Amino acid sequence: MKKYKVGILGATGTVGQRFIQLLEGHPQFEVTALAASDRSAGKPYAEACAWKLNGAIPESVRDITVQPIEPPLDCDLVFSSLPSSVARETEEAFARAGYPVISNSSSYRMDEDVPLLIAEINAEHLDLIDVQRQKRGFSKGFIVTNPNCAVVSFAPPLAAIHRKFGVESAIVTTMQAVSGAGYPGVSSMDIVDNVVPYIAGEEPKVETEAQKILGTFADGAIQKADFSVSAQCFRVNVLDGHTCSVRVNLKEQATLEDLVTAMKEFPSLGLHSSPKTFIEVMDEPNRPQPRVDRDAGDGMTITVGRVFPDTVFDYRFVSLSHNTVRGAAGSAILNAELLIDRRII
Ligand code: NAP
Repeated sequence: MKKYKVGILGATGTVGQRFIQLLEGHPQFEVTALAASDRSAGKPYAEACAWKLNGAIPESVRDITVQPIEPPLDCDLVFSSLPSSVARETEEAFARAGYPVISNSSSYRMDEDVPLLIAEINAEHLDLIDVQRQKRGFSKGFIVTNPNCAVVSFAPPLAAIHRKFGVESAIVTTMQAVSGAGYPGVSSMDIVDNVVPYIAGEEPKVETEAQKILGTFADGAIQKADFSVSAQCFRVNVLDGHTCSVRVNLKEQATLEDLVTAMKEFPSLGLHSSPKTFIEVMDEPNRPQPRVDRDAGDGMTITVGRVFPDTVFDYRFVSLSHNTVRGAAGSAILNAELLIDRRII
Protein backbone atom coordinates (compact mmCIF):
# COMPACT_ATOMS: atom_id res chain seq x y z
CA MET A 1 0.00 0.00 0.00
CA LYS A 2 1.35 3.43 -0.96
CA LYS A 3 2.31 5.64 1.99
CA TYR A 4 1.54 9.36 1.77
CA LYS A 5 3.61 11.91 3.66
CA VAL A 6 1.39 14.12 5.79
CA GLY A 7 1.86 17.47 7.50
CA ILE A 8 -0.19 18.74 10.44
CA LEU A 9 -0.92 22.47 10.83
CA GLY A 10 -1.64 23.25 14.49
CA ALA A 11 0.19 20.06 15.47
CA THR A 12 0.79 21.07 19.10
CA GLY A 13 -2.91 21.72 19.89
CA THR A 14 -5.73 19.53 21.19
CA VAL A 15 -6.77 18.30 17.74
CA GLY A 16 -3.17 18.25 16.46
CA GLN A 17 -2.21 15.83 19.24
CA ARG A 18 -5.15 13.60 18.38
CA PHE A 19 -3.98 13.56 14.74
CA ILE A 20 -0.56 12.38 15.86
CA GLN A 21 -2.03 9.69 18.09
CA LEU A 22 -4.40 8.38 15.39
CA LEU A 23 -1.81 8.51 12.60
CA GLU A 24 0.75 6.44 14.55
CA GLY A 25 1.03 3.14 12.66
CA HIS A 26 -1.51 4.17 10.00
CA PRO A 27 -1.06 2.00 6.88
CA GLN A 28 -1.47 4.88 4.38
CA PHE A 29 0.00 7.90 6.16
CA GLU A 30 3.36 8.84 7.65
CA VAL A 31 3.72 12.10 9.58
CA THR A 32 6.67 13.99 8.10
CA ALA A 33 5.95 17.66 8.87
CA LEU A 34 4.54 19.53 11.87
CA ALA A 35 3.70 23.22 12.03
CA ALA A 36 2.38 25.57 14.70
CA SER A 37 2.72 29.14 15.95
CA ASP A 38 5.89 31.19 16.39
CA ARG A 39 5.88 30.07 20.02
CA SER A 40 6.59 26.49 18.88
CA ALA A 41 8.40 26.89 15.54
CA GLY A 42 12.04 25.85 15.61
CA LYS A 43 11.64 23.50 18.61
CA PRO A 44 11.54 19.69 18.57
CA TYR A 45 7.88 18.58 18.79
CA ALA A 46 8.34 16.96 22.22
CA GLU A 47 9.60 20.26 23.62
CA ALA A 48 7.03 22.50 21.90
CA CYS A 49 3.99 20.39 22.77
CA ALA A 50 2.22 20.16 26.16
CA TRP A 51 1.04 16.58 25.45
CA LYS A 52 -2.34 15.89 27.10
CA LEU A 53 -3.37 12.49 25.72
CA ASN A 54 -2.92 9.11 27.36
CA GLY A 55 0.43 7.48 26.64
CA ALA A 56 3.69 9.04 25.53
CA ILE A 57 4.32 11.18 22.46
CA PRO A 58 5.04 8.70 19.63
CA GLU A 59 8.81 8.24 19.08
CA SER A 60 8.34 8.87 15.36
CA VAL A 61 7.44 12.55 15.88
CA ARG A 62 9.29 13.54 19.08
CA ASP A 63 12.30 14.96 17.28
CA ILE A 64 10.57 16.51 14.26
CA THR A 65 11.28 20.25 14.27
CA VAL A 66 8.08 22.29 14.35
CA GLN A 67 7.86 24.70 11.42
CA PRO A 68 5.94 27.90 10.74
CA ILE A 69 2.51 27.44 9.11
CA GLU A 70 3.57 28.27 5.57
CA PRO A 71 4.35 26.23 2.49
CA PRO A 72 6.45 24.44 1.47
CA LEU A 73 6.36 21.54 3.93
CA ASP A 74 7.81 18.11 3.24
CA CYS A 75 4.51 16.27 2.69
CA ASP A 76 1.91 15.20 0.09
CA LEU A 77 -1.14 16.58 1.96
CA VAL A 78 -1.88 18.60 5.09
CA PHE A 79 -4.34 18.16 7.91
CA SER A 80 -5.24 21.53 9.41
CA SER A 81 -6.25 22.09 13.02
CA LEU A 82 -5.58 25.82 13.14
CA PRO A 83 -7.76 28.41 14.88
CA SER A 84 -10.12 30.00 12.37
CA SER A 85 -8.33 33.34 12.87
CA VAL A 86 -5.34 32.05 10.90
CA ALA A 87 -6.83 29.09 9.02
CA ARG A 88 -8.42 30.99 6.14
CA GLU A 89 -5.27 32.59 4.82
CA THR A 90 -3.01 29.64 5.62
CA GLU A 91 -5.21 26.90 4.15
CA GLU A 92 -5.63 28.87 0.94
CA ALA A 93 -1.84 29.33 0.72
CA PHE A 94 -1.30 25.56 1.02
CA ALA A 95 -4.05 24.72 -1.49
CA ARG A 96 -2.60 27.26 -3.92
CA ALA A 97 0.84 25.72 -3.43
CA GLY A 98 -0.60 22.36 -4.59
CA TYR A 99 -1.41 20.59 -1.30
CA PRO A 100 -4.72 18.85 -0.57
CA VAL A 101 -5.89 20.55 2.67
CA ILE A 102 -8.18 18.56 4.94
CA SER A 103 -9.38 21.00 7.55
CA ASN A 104 -11.11 20.99 10.93
CA SER A 105 -11.40 24.74 11.04
CA SER A 106 -14.68 26.60 10.42
CA SER A 107 -13.09 29.07 7.96
CA TYR A 108 -14.20 27.45 4.68
CA ARG A 109 -17.02 25.17 5.84
CA MET A 110 -19.86 27.23 4.40
CA ASP A 111 -18.09 28.41 1.23
CA GLU A 112 -20.21 27.29 -1.75
CA ASP A 113 -17.33 25.54 -3.52
CA VAL A 114 -15.90 23.69 -0.50
CA PRO A 115 -17.12 20.21 0.49
CA LEU A 116 -18.32 19.98 4.12
CA LEU A 117 -17.85 16.28 4.43
CA ILE A 118 -19.02 13.41 6.61
CA ALA A 119 -17.57 10.56 4.56
CA GLU A 120 -20.50 8.19 5.11
CA ILE A 121 -23.13 10.81 4.27
CA ASN A 122 -22.16 13.09 1.40
CA ALA A 123 -19.15 11.71 -0.48
CA GLU A 124 -20.77 12.91 -3.73
CA HIS A 125 -20.02 16.50 -2.62
CA LEU A 126 -16.36 15.77 -3.45
CA ASP A 127 -17.32 16.65 -7.04
CA LEU A 128 -17.19 20.26 -5.81
CA ILE A 129 -13.40 20.02 -5.85
CA ASP A 130 -13.35 20.54 -9.63
CA VAL A 131 -15.59 23.61 -9.23
CA GLN A 132 -13.31 24.91 -6.47
CA ARG A 133 -10.16 24.44 -8.52
CA GLN A 134 -11.65 26.29 -11.47
CA LYS A 135 -13.06 29.12 -9.38
CA ARG A 136 -9.95 29.69 -7.26
CA GLY A 137 -7.33 28.80 -9.84
CA PHE A 138 -5.89 25.91 -7.77
CA SER A 139 -4.02 23.40 -9.94
CA LYS A 140 -3.35 20.31 -7.77
CA GLY A 141 -4.43 21.58 -4.36
CA PHE A 142 -7.91 21.91 -2.82
CA ILE A 143 -9.68 22.33 0.53
CA VAL A 144 -12.09 19.83 2.10
CA THR A 145 -13.59 20.53 5.55
CA ASN A 146 -15.06 18.60 8.48
CA PRO A 147 -18.21 19.81 10.22
CA ASN A 148 -18.34 21.44 13.63
CA CYS A 149 -17.73 18.84 16.36
CA ALA A 150 -21.28 19.14 17.80
CA VAL A 151 -22.85 18.90 14.34
CA VAL A 152 -21.04 15.57 13.82
CA SER A 153 -22.93 14.19 16.83
CA PHE A 154 -26.45 14.75 15.51
CA ALA A 155 -26.07 15.05 11.69
CA PRO A 156 -25.72 11.25 11.16
CA PRO A 157 -29.00 10.24 12.90
CA LEU A 158 -30.65 13.27 11.29
CA ALA A 159 -29.32 12.13 7.90
CA ALA A 160 -30.74 8.65 8.43
CA ILE A 161 -34.15 10.17 9.22
CA HIS A 162 -33.98 12.81 6.47
CA ARG A 163 -33.18 10.33 3.70
CA LYS A 164 -36.17 8.13 4.50
CA PHE A 165 -38.83 10.50 5.84
CA GLY A 166 -37.63 14.09 5.31
CA VAL A 167 -36.79 16.41 8.19
CA GLU A 168 -39.09 19.41 8.55
CA SER A 169 -37.40 21.07 11.55
CA ALA A 170 -35.26 20.20 14.56
CA ILE A 171 -34.37 21.62 17.94
CA VAL A 172 -30.86 20.76 19.13
CA THR A 173 -29.45 21.34 22.60
CA THR A 174 -25.74 20.55 22.82
CA MET A 175 -23.76 19.60 25.94
CA GLN A 176 -20.16 20.07 24.84
CA ALA A 177 -16.98 18.82 26.47
CA VAL A 178 -14.19 21.12 27.64
CA SER A 179 -11.66 19.68 25.15
CA GLY A 180 -13.83 21.21 22.44
CA ALA A 181 -12.45 24.60 23.43
CA GLY A 182 -8.83 23.55 22.82
CA TYR A 183 -6.06 23.96 25.41
CA PRO A 184 -6.11 25.56 27.96
CA GLY A 185 -9.71 26.32 26.96
CA VAL A 186 -12.29 27.15 29.61
CA SER A 187 -10.91 28.13 33.01
CA SER A 188 -11.46 25.51 35.73
CA MET A 189 -13.00 28.30 37.87
CA ASP A 190 -15.67 28.67 35.18
CA ILE A 191 -16.49 25.02 34.48
CA VAL A 192 -16.07 22.98 37.70
CA ASP A 193 -19.47 22.60 39.39
CA ASN A 194 -21.04 24.50 36.52
CA VAL A 195 -22.77 24.59 33.12
CA VAL A 196 -22.03 27.53 30.81
CA PRO A 197 -24.91 28.37 28.43
CA TYR A 198 -22.68 30.05 25.85
CA ILE A 199 -20.00 28.92 23.39
CA ALA A 200 -18.82 31.78 21.21
CA GLY A 201 -19.93 31.40 17.59
CA GLU A 202 -21.31 27.88 18.09
CA GLU A 203 -25.08 28.22 17.69
CA PRO A 204 -25.00 29.60 14.11
CA LYS A 205 -22.77 26.65 13.09
CA VAL A 206 -25.13 24.12 14.65
CA GLU A 207 -28.09 25.83 12.99
CA THR A 208 -26.65 25.82 9.44
CA GLU A 209 -24.06 23.10 8.77
CA ALA A 210 -26.36 20.05 8.68
CA GLN A 211 -28.42 21.59 5.84
CA LYS A 212 -25.28 21.86 3.70
CA ILE A 213 -24.14 18.32 4.56
CA LEU A 214 -27.58 16.93 3.68
CA GLY A 215 -27.88 19.06 0.55
CA THR A 216 -27.93 17.61 -2.95
CA PHE A 217 -25.15 18.21 -5.46
CA ALA A 218 -26.30 19.08 -8.98
CA ASP A 219 -25.02 21.33 -11.80
CA GLY A 220 -21.84 22.19 -9.93
CA ALA A 221 -23.53 23.41 -6.73
CA ILE A 222 -25.08 22.21 -3.51
CA GLN A 223 -28.76 22.79 -2.97
CA LYS A 224 -29.06 22.89 0.82
CA ALA A 225 -31.66 20.73 2.56
CA ASP A 226 -34.70 22.85 3.36
CA PHE A 227 -35.25 22.14 7.08
CA SER A 228 -34.65 24.58 9.93
CA VAL A 229 -32.61 23.94 13.08
CA SER A 230 -32.85 25.87 16.33
CA ALA A 231 -29.85 25.40 18.64
CA GLN A 232 -28.68 26.17 22.15
CA CYS A 233 -25.10 25.23 23.01
CA PHE A 234 -23.79 24.51 26.51
CA ARG A 235 -20.28 23.85 27.80
CA VAL A 236 -20.43 21.10 30.45
CA ASN A 237 -18.00 19.59 32.92
CA VAL A 238 -16.99 16.63 30.70
CA LEU A 239 -13.48 16.11 29.31
CA ASP A 240 -14.29 14.53 25.90
CA GLY A 241 -17.56 13.77 24.09
CA HIS A 242 -20.32 16.09 22.88
CA THR A 243 -23.90 15.08 23.70
CA CYS A 244 -26.91 16.45 21.80
CA SER A 245 -30.56 16.38 22.80
CA VAL A 246 -32.61 16.51 19.59
CA ARG A 247 -36.31 16.94 18.82
CA VAL A 248 -37.40 16.54 15.25
CA ASN A 249 -40.49 17.04 13.06
CA LEU A 250 -40.74 14.84 9.97
CA LYS A 251 -42.18 15.53 6.52
CA GLU A 252 -43.59 12.01 6.22
CA GLN A 253 -44.99 9.82 8.95
CA ALA A 254 -42.76 7.12 10.39
CA THR A 255 -43.10 4.62 13.21
CA LEU A 256 -40.57 4.48 16.02
CA GLU A 257 -39.34 1.17 14.59
CA ASP A 258 -38.88 2.79 11.13
CA LEU A 259 -36.78 5.53 12.68
CA VAL A 260 -34.55 3.19 14.66
CA THR A 261 -34.09 0.89 11.66
CA ALA A 262 -33.11 3.83 9.43
CA MET A 263 -30.38 4.78 11.92
CA LYS A 264 -29.12 1.26 12.53
CA GLU A 265 -28.96 0.47 8.82
CA PHE A 266 -27.00 3.57 7.80
CA PRO A 267 -23.90 1.94 6.30
CA SER A 268 -20.31 2.42 7.39
CA LEU A 269 -17.69 2.62 4.62
CA GLY A 270 -15.11 -0.10 5.19
CA LEU A 271 -12.13 2.29 5.01
CA HIS A 272 -9.25 1.91 7.47
CA SER A 273 -10.69 4.41 10.01
CA SER A 274 -14.33 3.44 9.49
CA PRO A 275 -16.04 1.99 12.55
CA LYS A 276 -17.82 -1.33 12.15
CA THR A 277 -21.07 0.45 13.09
CA PHE A 278 -21.58 4.05 12.00
CA ILE A 279 -24.68 4.72 14.17
CA GLU A 280 -25.21 2.53 17.22
CA VAL A 281 -28.70 2.77 18.70
CA MET A 282 -28.78 1.87 22.39
CA ASP A 283 -31.83 0.52 24.24
CA GLU A 284 -30.68 1.24 27.80
CA PRO A 285 -32.70 4.11 29.30
CA ASN A 286 -29.61 5.93 30.59
CA ARG A 287 -27.37 5.86 27.48
CA PRO A 288 -25.48 7.26 25.68
CA GLN A 289 -23.16 8.85 28.24
CA PRO A 290 -19.90 10.60 27.34
CA ARG A 291 -17.62 8.78 29.78
CA VAL A 292 -19.02 5.37 28.88
CA ASP A 293 -19.76 5.68 25.16
CA ARG A 294 -17.41 8.24 23.57
CA ASP A 295 -14.86 5.56 22.64
CA ALA A 296 -17.39 3.35 20.80
CA GLY A 297 -15.85 2.22 17.50
CA ASP A 298 -12.50 3.69 18.64
CA GLY A 299 -14.23 7.07 18.91
CA MET A 300 -15.68 6.91 15.37
CA THR A 301 -19.16 5.51 16.13
CA ILE A 302 -22.07 7.87 16.80
CA THR A 303 -24.10 6.52 19.71
CA VAL A 304 -27.82 7.30 19.89
CA GLY A 305 -30.36 6.55 22.59
CA ARG A 306 -33.66 7.58 24.13
CA VAL A 307 -35.38 7.51 20.73
CA PHE A 308 -39.05 8.15 21.54
CA PRO A 309 -42.15 9.88 20.21
CA ASP A 310 -42.21 13.44 21.57
CA THR A 311 -45.15 15.29 23.08
CA VAL A 312 -44.58 18.49 21.03
CA PHE A 313 -42.41 17.37 18.08
CA ASP A 314 -42.69 14.03 16.23
CA TYR A 315 -39.67 12.32 17.81
CA ARG A 316 -36.79 12.96 20.18
CA PHE A 317 -33.41 11.32 20.70
CA VAL A 318 -30.00 11.83 22.31
CA SER A 319 -26.80 11.50 20.29
CA LEU A 320 -23.14 11.48 21.28
CA SER A 321 -19.75 11.46 19.60
CA HIS A 322 -16.10 11.92 20.56
CA ASN A 323 -15.34 15.53 19.69
CA THR A 324 -11.60 15.23 19.00
CA VAL A 325 -11.88 11.86 17.19
CA ARG A 326 -15.14 11.67 15.16
CA GLY A 327 -15.61 15.42 15.65
CA ALA A 328 -12.15 16.37 14.39
CA ALA A 329 -8.97 14.36 13.68
CA GLY A 330 -10.61 10.95 13.13
CA SER A 331 -13.10 12.33 10.60
CA ALA A 332 -10.37 14.27 8.78
CA ILE A 333 -8.28 11.10 8.47
CA LEU A 334 -11.32 9.16 7.25
CA ASN A 335 -11.96 11.93 4.69
CA ALA A 336 -8.36 11.63 3.48
CA GLU A 337 -8.79 7.85 3.15
CA LEU A 338 -11.94 8.48 1.09
CA LEU A 339 -10.07 10.97 -1.13
CA ILE A 340 -7.43 8.33 -1.80
CA ASP A 341 -10.07 5.67 -2.39
CA ARG A 342 -11.75 7.98 -4.96
CA ARG A 343 -8.31 8.71 -6.54
CA ILE A 344 -8.68 12.44 -5.84
CA ILE A 345 -5.40 12.28 -3.90
P1 NAP B 1 -5.79 24.47 20.36
O1 NAP B 1 -5.67 23.38 21.35
O2 NAP B 1 -5.87 25.88 20.88
O3 NAP B 1 -4.57 24.37 19.31
C1 NAP B 1 -4.34 25.38 18.36
C2 NAP B 1 -3.15 25.01 17.49
O4 NAP B 1 -2.98 26.05 16.52
C3 NAP B 1 -1.83 24.90 18.23
O5 NAP B 1 -0.99 24.00 17.56
C4 NAP B 1 -1.26 26.32 18.10
O6 NAP B 1 0.16 26.36 18.14
C5 NAP B 1 -1.70 26.69 16.71
N1 NAP B 1 -1.85 28.15 16.58
C6 NAP B 1 -2.58 28.98 17.37
N2 NAP B 1 -2.47 30.25 16.93
C7 NAP B 1 -1.64 30.22 15.87
C8 NAP B 1 -1.11 31.22 15.01
N3 NAP B 1 -1.43 32.51 15.14
N4 NAP B 1 -0.28 30.83 14.02
C9 NAP B 1 0.04 29.52 13.86
N5 NAP B 1 -0.42 28.53 14.65
C10 NAP B 1 -1.25 28.88 15.65
O7 NAP B 1 -7.10 24.31 19.47
P2 NAP B 1 -7.84 22.95 18.98
O8 NAP B 1 -8.91 22.59 19.95
O9 NAP B 1 -6.82 21.93 18.62
O10 NAP B 1 -8.62 23.46 17.69
C11 NAP B 1 -7.97 23.67 16.46
C12 NAP B 1 -9.01 23.92 15.36
O11 NAP B 1 -9.85 22.77 15.24
C13 NAP B 1 -9.94 25.10 15.65
O12 NAP B 1 -10.27 25.74 14.44
C14 NAP B 1 -11.17 24.42 16.25
O13 NAP B 1 -12.33 25.18 16.08
C15 NAP B 1 -11.20 23.15 15.43
N6 NAP B 1 -11.88 22.02 16.07
C16 NAP B 1 -11.61 21.68 17.36
C17 NAP B 1 -12.27 20.60 17.94
C18 NAP B 1 -12.04 20.19 19.37
O14 NAP B 1 -12.76 19.30 19.84
N7 NAP B 1 -11.07 20.76 20.08
C19 NAP B 1 -13.16 19.85 17.19
C20 NAP B 1 -13.41 20.22 15.85
C21 NAP B 1 -12.76 21.30 15.31
P3 NAP B 1 0.99 26.71 19.47
O15 NAP B 1 0.91 25.52 20.38
O16 NAP B 1 2.35 26.95 18.94
O17 NAP B 1 0.35 27.95 20.08
